[in-house]
This record gives sequence, structure tokens and C-alpha cells, in this order.
Amino acid sequence: MAQPPKVDNELFARDYAKCVLCYKCVEACGTDAQNTFAIAVAGRGFEARISTELDVPLTDSACVFCGNCIGVCPTGALVFKSEFDLRRAGQWDESRQRETTTICPYCGVGCALTLHVQDERIVKVTSPLDSSVTEGHLCIKGRFGWQYAGAGSGEKAEKAQRGDTEGAEERGGKKGKRRGKKEAKE
Ligand code: SF4
Ligand code: SF4
Repeated sequence: MAQPPKVDNELFARDYAKCVLCYKCVEACGTDAQNTFAIAVAGRGFEARISTELDVPLTDSACVFCGNCIGVCPTGALVFKSEFDLRRAGQWDESRQRETTTICPYCGVGCALTLHVQDERIVKVTSPLDSSVTEGHLCIKGRFGWQYAGAGSGEKAEKAQRGDTEGAEERGGKKGKRRGKKEAKE
């Protein structure tokens, strides 16, 4: 169904004009990985589309901004906001990108993170599908807690370097913030 890209938060964008209704994002948000059930199929036939409950913005939905839906989307309908912005500016260039796999520093689980770097800037973070720890899935901290690496100096960068993911949680909206605090306690 034709609709303009949905950009309702600073972490990821949803361009459903590219959606092929494979339902992989719905399954990742549901029983395949996250068990949050923030998105589902709405409508029938030609009206069928992926939507939050009552089509509210992601920030008002049950979404916890894990980004696992982005990780499984095969078409680019779900993308990091950083990638969305660079593509819009005509600056997204995978030939200039390199990938480095490391371990998430935020907790003791030890999730594998693959940093995608273009022009010395991290532009997105994924996790290897064959990782026995993550099977490609991450939480908000691993997926989006990297922005501090490009934050320069100052109070915000110092907080991030201490492992404070408040920045990513704020950019993900109040639900992301709440979820991030819950995970920090766990
Ligand atoms: S980011 Fe996570 S919680 Fe939000 S819609 Fe995607 S899979 Fe569901
Ligand atoms: S994973 Fe991507 S292509 Fe598949 S239903 Fe979700 S948004 Fe559409």
C-alpha cells in the first residue's frame, strides 16, 4: 500500500513502499526473538500492511527499539535512521564501508556486534546471524548504543563512554527509555 516513509524517532525509519509483506519483522518482534508484539499485519488483501496497533507512531507503541525487525528485513523497508539520512543525501556508499566484529561492552552476555563504518563513522550495527549468542538479534543498547563513538567530547559523550545509554533510549522515545532502564537493572 502506497505511503510515505515513517520517520517518527531518531533510531530507525520505516519505508513501507519497499515492503513485500514477508512478515519477517512481525515474527522477529514476536515469537522468533523479541516477544514484544509491537507490530502486526493490518488490513486485508490489497490493503494489507505492517502497522503498529491503531497505526500509532512507534514511540507510542509497545516497541522497545531493539531493532531486530531491521535486522531481518530483506528489502530495506526498515533501516537505521543513519542509513536513511545518508541514502537521502546520496552519500550511502557500501564500497567505502568496512565491517569490524567485536563484543558489546554494555553487559556480561557478550553479544557479537558488527560495526559498519563509512568515512570513519559508524553508520549501523548488526550482529552475525551465525552468532551462537545472538543469532543476529540485539537489544537497544547493542543495536543503537554506539552513537557516543561519534559524539566527540563533552558531558554527553562522557556519559555514553561510562556505559550510559540514555542517549539512545531518549532518541528511541519514552518506551525505548523505559525498556533501557529495565534492562540496565537486569
Ligand atoms: S524494534 Fe524491536 S520491538 Fe520495535 S518493532 Fe522492531 S522488533 Fe518490535
Ligand atoms: S521484514 Fe521488511 S519487507 Fe518483510 S514485512 Fe517487514 S517491513 Fe515488510
